[in-house]
Amino acid sequence: MALDIVVIGAGMGGLSAAAHLSAQGHRVRVFEGTSRVGGKAGRRELEGFRFDTGPTLLTMADVVRRAFSAAGGDLDRDVGLVPIHPETRYFFAGGKRVDLVQDADETARNIDRVFAGEGAAYKRFIEHAATIWRYASEPYLEAPFTGYSAFTLRVLKRGLGAAKLGKNLGTLDALAREFFRAPELRMFVERFATYVGGDPSLTSAAYANIAHVECTMGAMHPRGGMAAIALRLADRLRERGVSVTTDAPVREVVIESGRVRAVRVEGHAELVPCDAVIVNVDPQTAAETFLSRASDALDLPALARRERSVSCYALLLGVEGSVGELAHHTLYFPQDYRREFVDLFREKVAPTQPAIYVNVPSLTEKGVAPEGCHSLYVLVNAPATGDQPERWSPDGTHIQALDRTILGRLDELVPGLSSRVRVRSRVTPLDIAALGSVGGAIYGEAPHGPTAPFRRPKQRVDGVRGLYLATGSAHPGGGVAMVTLGGEHVSTLVSQDQSALARR
Ligand SMILES: Cc1cc2nc3c(=O)[nH]c(=O)nc-3n(C[C@H](O)[C@H](O)[C@H](O)COP(=O)(O)OP(=O)(O)OC[C@H]3O[C@@H](n4cnc5c(N)ncnc54)[C@H](O)[C@@H]3O)c2cc1C
Repeated sequence: MALDIVVIGAGMGGLSAAAHLSAQGHRVRVFEGTSRVGGKAGRRELEGFRFDTGPTLLTMADVVRRAFSAAGGDLDRDVGLVPIHPETRYFFAGGKRVDLVQDADETARNIDRVFAGEGAAYKRFIEHAATIWRYASEPYLEAPFTGYSAFTLRVLKRGLGAAKLGKNLGTLDALAREFFRAPELRMFVERFATYVGGDPSLTSAAYANIAHVECTMGAMHPRGGMAAIALRLADRLRERGVSVTTDAPVREVVIESGRVRAVRVEGHAELVPCDAVIVNVDPQTAAETFLSRASDALDLPALARRERSVSCYALLLGVEGSVGELAHHTLYFPQDYRREFVDLFREKVAPTQPAIYVNVPSLTEKGVAPEGCHSLYVLVNAPATGDQPERWSPDGTHIQALDRTILGRLDELVPGLSSRVRVRSRVTPLDIAALGSVGGAIYGEAPHGPTAPFRRPKQRVDGVRGLYLATGSAHPGGGVAMVTLGGEHVSTLVSQDQSALARR
């Protein structure tokens, strides 16, 4: 029985949910509040330079492949994925440099050349990350999270080793100390906390699974950048009859007798009736705005008390000439990485000596920048203070100082680079907050404490029939692959609930 389903938001989680639900035969309509699809996976074009404004790295491509095929498309044909070699180039204070590649033996040799004897530690670490993946992440990800008991059963299916591993996980920074002597290589491990927006001294070592996902399963560059994935997926959805409407913010979800009935969309004279609503927006923002009638079910006070995950600040730079030793993905760590997390979480200011991540897609793909030029995206972590516009005013001293710091760090990698900047733009926490993420927090709640992965709001909202969350702020979490999987999980829940959802 086909249901009428509304998806609020055309971020990757919303588009994925729309793809899987339409494949099940439901009538799906997507309403996006801004003028473009993709949400955080955005794009900016300036004087012949093209920049991603959010994600730059695709992992777990198979999850996205499934969303494309559900929409009648083909990720490899519609977008095209390019493997990157090296996957990431790491620079450390004092000029040390290591290239990380998908082959663990080659990476171990690269490490040994710079940090004698640590290559074997890398291989042990990467094996441990694979075990975490098998024993903890797979059971966490293979089904929607409906409660501890179903999850525990899935863990136990993998044997007692899996249950034991879960009990003994400490924090990421402790894990880094356990495996590596070199402080630089500990930073490499600690940084995975930032992939979920956290501080490594408070984030579970379970997130070392990201090392397995990125370093072993591999990371890809989509042609056209990450934004192309959302744009093409929306094209495929429209071709199969799913309406994806931009400039259409949802103002209210109508809930009566404990179930969703309709949504009110700005610019639409009539209510849009529906059997189910998929919310692709941070639940706190939703509960404070268009879902105020479900604020109890969403437990708004608890959401508002959450510690926010990090936001970001990026300089988008069109530069003339060479980018020296920069690779497609380059990471440059500061001397004192610990300081970054004190700044972000205790002081709630942008790091004074930030790790900088530089993405140069023009090294891989033609047409991203004019001839003889490169597009650079230089990213640092920032506190989720996107609800304090005065902090991020373009003329403010805060931003001016941050720009000087970032450009200074860039010049340490490529002397004189900042003097060759032809085009400049910024992504600030205000831009992320404008998409409905509280304070611009990229991943909802900070992943702090051992139970953090389980604290995320569940995808099926108890207490309101027909209401589901498909957003990086809910289960299973943030990141393009995660939210795409989240959209798929929601379609599973809807199909379980199907008979209860049909309007009578
Ligand atoms: C700088 C940065 C770098 C990142 N790097 C990576 C990376 O390299 N790899 C990776 O995998 N992930 C990365 N991420 C994370 C990843 O981009 C996000 O987790 C993911 O894109 C979030 O998708 P989402 O489905 O939660 O929706 P979002 O992208 O948050 O989109 C939500 C959508 O809902 C819309 N909306 C809000 N309110 C309404 C309303 N009332 N009505 C209608 N529409 C509404 C918004 O406009 C928006 O389009 C990065 C994120 C950022 C910001």
